[in-house]
Amino acid sequence: MAADHYQTLGVSRDATQEEIKKAYRKLAVQYHPDKEGGDEQKFKEIGEAYEVLGDPQKRQSYDQVGHEAYQSAQSAGGPGADPFQGFGGFGGGQQFEFDLGDMDLGDIFGSFFGGGGGQRTSRQQAQRGRDVEARVTVDFQEAVFGTEATVNLNLEDTCSRCEGSMAEPGSSTETCQTCGGQGQVVQAQRTMLGTIQHATVCPSCHGHGERPQKPCSQCGGKGTERSKHSINVKIPAGISDGATIRLRQRGEAPLAGGGAGKGDLYVHVSVRPSKQFTRQGKDIVSEATIDMIDAALGTEINVPTVDGKKRLKIPAGTQHGQTFRISGSGVPHGRGDTRGDHLVTINVSVPKKLTRKQKELLQELRKHRKKK
Ligand SMILES: [Zn+2]
Ligand SMILES: [Zn+2]
Repeated sequence: MAADHYQTLGVSRDATQEEIKKAYRKLAVQYHPDKEGGDEQKFKEIGEAYEVLGDPQKRQSYDQVGHEAYQSAQSAGGPGADPFQGFGGFGGGQQFEFDLGDMDLGDIFGSFFGGGGGQRTSRQQAQRGRDVEARVTVDFQEAVFGTEATVNLNLEDTCSRCEGSMAEPGSSTETCQTCGGQGQVVQAQRTMLGTIQHATVCPSCHGHGERPQKPCSQCGGKGTERSKHSINVKIPAGISDGATIRLRQRGEAPLAGGGAGKGDLYVHVSVRPSKQFTRQGKDIVSEATIDMIDAALGTEINVPTVDGKKRLKIPAGTQHGQTFRISGSGVPHGRGDTRGDHLVTINVSVPKKLTRKQKELLQELRKHRKKK
């Protein structure tokens, strides 16, 4: 990862926009790749740094979230991002998918899963298919013990007819007219430093240098087609609400046979709350109510747990709010069969109505209670 943008431009964090612009111009001229002693990589970094710091709004977001979070959010791209939209962009041909101006940190981290693996490309890198995301909701009990969920997705996958080759089966290929077989095209672009040339992946042949003479009749020569997929997702035991499962290579196929493999599938899991139980880390918590007589004399009760009903001995003299532990009926965690506990908090109820006999007995009891 490149250095902090301020370091790249050699300015302080409180530099004015004017100072940033000056520093950028000076460095851009110094490292311009067309010049002797130029440095393309450095020039690109300078351009990227200026693209952020030169825009007061982007600079503000950058200052807020820091270099790494900003870069990650930017490289994550957006759903539906076109990998070639950076065509003609400044310097490295990158464009930022996210306007971070109105987002808080949570939004930015949420956007990491935005897909668009193709966006992080420099032109030499093979294109990876896009990441996709899906959402599943499971019951409390299913989250505790694990389950399988099915995710239905409509995604761009390798064409079943040409298997990604883009050519009609049996047809031959020819040199790409757009790039003359180079796989990349050079764009000339006017900037305040004069004309800059930079190469990008050929949009016609996607870098292959060759095109099918007869494009595949099913996908029209794209190499991919949109189709419905039902994907089984194993939800591991003990998963928490809001967790994300990453399934590598289960996202979209790369464009036009691009060699870097499929994108990933991110499955966000929501856990439906239970009426009886709540989670406290690896423990499961519930409440039980007993009356004051049972609390005073002790009793046994049935406690519903995720393993079914469990007998629990309530000792004499149990107080309201006291908590008892049923070992091993909590949430599985770690490796092996380790589980948390079930915790029951006891509510002690006082009778609202008493029969005449009960009243007499309680009055009798009052006479016998210890003097305070
Ligand atoms: Zn095809
Ligand atoms: Zn081409």
